[in-house]
Amino acid sequence: MKKTDLNELRKDPLLGRWIAVLSESVPPSEYRQDLSSEGVHEKSCILCAGRESETAGEIMLVRNASSTNVSHKWWTRVIPNFNPVFKVEGELGRRGEGMYDKMNSIGANEVIIESPHHNVQPEDMGLEQMSRVIQTYRDRISDLEKDSRLRYTLIYKNHGISAGSHLGHPVSHLASTPVIPKRVKEELDGAKQYFAYKERCIFCDVMREELRVGSRVILETRHFAAFCPYASKFPFETWILPKRHNCAFQDIRSDELEDLALILSSMLKKLRTLFPDLSYNYFIHSAPNRVPRKDHWHTLGEDFHWHLEIMPRFLRTSGFEWGSGFYILPTSPEDAAKYLREV
Ligand SMILES: [Zn+2]
Ligand SMILES: [Zn+2]
Ligand SMILES: [Zn+2]
Repeated sequence: MKKTDLNELRKDPLLGRWIAVLSESVPPSEYRQDLSSEGVHEKSCILCAGRESETAGEIMLVRNASSTNVSHKWWTRVIPNFNPVFKVEGELGRRGEGMYDKMNSIGANEVIIESPHHNVQPEDMGLEQMSRVIQTYRDRISDLEKDSRLRYTLIYKNHGISAGSHLGHPVSHLASTPVIPKRVKEELDGAKQYFAYKERCIFCDVMREELRVGSRVILETRHFAAFCPYASKFPFETWILPKRHNCAFQDIRSDELEDLALILSSMLKKLRTLFPDLSYNYFIHSAPNRVPRKDHWHTLGEDFHWHLEIMPRFLRTSGFEWGSGFYILPTSPEDAAKYLREV
């Protein structure tokens, strides 16, 4: 198959989840991974300031107006992913094939360059720069929400080799998909059911309960709380929840944005103090794109509540977890929160 072919989205008829199949199959030799590799070295990194012309199709940038130095004229920059799974051009082409459902892999895959500098950890960038990164997340989601073919935009970060990062330069990613991802759909459905039963937002209730009990709370700021969820899947899993109820991350106010930069960098610093070489992922769960649709439920604004989840990646998931979806937690959320509070 040619590289220009669109990737295909296939729906699992049993579980209802979508899988993206690349148009050009990766041969077995390319699966061999060197887990000791340290990512791209600064000298060969095209994401560093001064090499902008080597990454075509810039999507947006936050300009550094004060800089007279040509090599530092931006704070954050967004470019298309090098090997996008989802592509903006084309039609969805929803169709059936025998008993199966498929469509073209329409969407967006972007790389959010968090800093012009190569060797900087997000938690060391300073609050102003962290705020610019979060502002970039917000602006990209707001922009992609206008495309009515797209249902969901996920912002996520991979840090460290075991979390899938190989770039070396500090980046986050964005994937905008024509379907709501299953993991998000499960949260939306759970929140909707809870709201139908209690007429309250489950996340607001969780927040009240966590702040009342206190044993799983790690940090509380003016607008946010960070805690280890009661039934975490992974040890030291942390959720950051905004205190103001809102379904959509992109509606974040500027004072909240600065406060999120504070609590997120504090959490990443705490995790690094406990685990110096930690690999982690974080991602933002926000409402699906709010373009009016016939099947859209009316309580979305009331029943969902955006949040950020940080997933440390220590353990290899075993056959038990894969086979059962049942997770074993070697450190309790209460103890994990205590360790994280104390550093
Ligand atoms: Zn770099
Ligand atoms: Zn809420
Ligand atoms: Zn979530």
